[in-house]
Amino acid sequence: MKTIIEPFRIKSVEPIYFTTLEERKRILENARYNPFRIHADQVLIDLLTDSGTSAMSARQWAGIMMGDESYAGSTSFFHFESSVKDVTGMPIVIPTHQGRAAEKILFTILGGKGKYFLSNTLFDTTRANIEFSGAEGIDLLCEEGKHPSIPAPFKGNMDIEALGQKINELGAANIPMVIMTVTNNSGGGQPVSMQNIREASAVCKAQGIPFFIDACRFAENSYFIKRREPGYAGKTVPHIALEMFSYADGCTMSAKKDAFANIGGFLAMRNLDLALQCRNLLIITEGFTTYGGLAGRDLEAIAIGLKEVMDEHYLEYRIRSIEYLTGKLYDAGVPVMLPAGGHAVYLDAKEFLPHIPVDQYPGQSLVCALYEAGGIRGVEIGSLMFGKYAADGSLLPAALELVRLAIPRRVYTQSHIDYVAEVIIEVFSQREQYRGLVITEETPLLRHFTAALKPA
Ligand SMILES: *Cc1c(COP(=O)(O)O)cnc(C)c1O
Repeated sequence: MKTIIEPFRIKSVEPIYFTTLEERKRILENARYNPFRIHADQVLIDLLTDSGTSAMSARQWAGIMMGDESYAGSTSFFHFESSVKDVTGMPIVIPTHQGRAAEKILFTILGGKGKYFLSNTLFDTTRANIEFSGAEGIDLLCEEGKHPSIPAPFKGNMDIEALGQKINELGAANIPMVIMTVTNNSGGGQPVSMQNIREASAVCKAQGIPFFIDACRFAENSYFIKRREPGYAGKTVPHIALEMFSYADGCTMSAKKDAFANIGGFLAMRNLDLALQCRNLLIITEGFTTYGGLAGRDLEAIAIGLKEVMDEHYLEYRIRSIEYLTGKLYDAGVPVMLPAGGHAVYLDAKEFLPHIPVDQYPGQSLVCALYEAGGIRGVEIGSLMFGKYAADGSLLPAALELVRLAIPRRVYTQSHIDYVAEVIIEVFSQREQYRGLVITEETPLLRHFTAALKPA
């Protein structure tokens, strides 16, 4: 097979910023060993997140100029609405300024004390919005999904048997919604199979529970189905996406992911009564129903991006670049999560830096090492992010100590990715030299964003 090339050529470029090892040591110290505090112009390759960091196409930029900024009835809204309808088959489309705004509206209406939302795995903002309403979120991830180093084709699946049991235990009347996250972001960007979506939907239908899709990475998930699920190899991605959505009563979406937009999101659904309530809240908190907190130009960019993301040359390059980096690291003996997910590579920091105890945050230490060695910024997904304290003040660690390297869409080329692999392999070869970190300052909630640390 020939090399899979970037399916685009580059018309507009922006600089990346080179620093010396000495400079990076000083920058890390000034940032108190927390890369969230590093200024973006001190980062060479930024893999902090794939959210809102995509490169837009020439057509999207042209759409930006065509944006209609009318308060009501903007032509850009109708373009956006028809694009979302084409992709999802949902008759009702409500724009929001991000995915979490769609979540806030939905769970304000459906949530509340004594309610339970079931999912394969809820994303952090989804869970936070559910809990903020007083309700509880419950993850029912399949068994394969719980083992980072054992490959399986659909590790994002929901445990269907557990879904049935939970519904019996809690009572269908107390479950306002079941939410399937595709791909499963918190579970490593692992895909969900069509069969799993179909089965979860059937269980919900039989019990009269609405079934929604958190569709942030619907195109990546559709491509995985095409590649891995029997019966789908000959189907097109738009066709597969439409089938996926056909099993759902609605969806939430962050356009910062699989729509190549820098900002935006939406809610789409079939039920008119629910939509009326959502639109009322939208007008109070986001904006009028034809812009929902977005500028007309953003609606244009999303309308165009939603179609572009389903291009199979793009998706092949996208999924292949993640596999390529994962494979290079795996071949060099670096502990990585398997198989590669759709949007990020995950390093297992506990195995990478086994000499650093969990209460000295091996994930954060690895994040700092990658920055120091090569100006690469990733994010810790481990005990700094999810750790809690016991009554005696000792750390209750997270289940896994991971470092996520999220790949922005259409931004970096193969040589950038080769460089990333080289830096990681170099850090791995000298791993004994890295030390752990201790926290010097932290906030009670979401501490990883602002915490200050120092070498142990
Ligand atoms: C990013 C994301 C969200 C939230 O979207 P925002 O646009 O960041 O508010 C919700 N669910 C999943 C799976 C996500 O990846």
